[in-house]
Amino acid sequence: MTVHINTRLCNGCGSRAEGCCEEMCPGDLFYRKNGKACLREPSDCWDCFACVKVCPRAALSIELPFQISEAKHRLAARLKKNGIEWNLVDRRGTVIATYIIQNKREAPSSEPNKQPKKEKQP
Ligand code: SF4
Ligand code: SF4
Repeated sequence: MTVHINTRLCNGCGSRAEGCCEEMCPGDLFYRKNGKACLREPSDCWDCFACVKVCPRAALSIELPFQISEAKHRLAARLKKNGIEWNLVDRRGTVIATYIIQNKREAPSSEPNKQPKKEKQP
């Protein structure tokens, strides 16, 4: 799969010493040039999606392989307060499906546990 960098959205992570993607990539594949993220060796990417999830500008996405998407759709992520919103994006950048994964458990209820009602025996 291939990491796609939307250079319109990438701001190079502003004044950070390292871009979030540079910091996160286990293969050290990112560097910045002219304030934009670049990928050093795309073929060394092992599709861990770490960069996609961490980018604060949602500038990164991964192109799905032919076996999954003949139309070259891409998966992009956007960090939300309580989880990650995954977007399936077509070639033109239009979001065609969204899936949200909650990564926090709900706070426990203050109500005492209610026992399930027993069914009446006939
Ligand atoms: S994390 Fe996103 S905004 Fe920051 S340098 Fe990488 S691609 Fe650009
Ligand atoms: S998907 Fe993983 S290995 Fe590939 S560029 Fe992103 S962080 Fe690096």
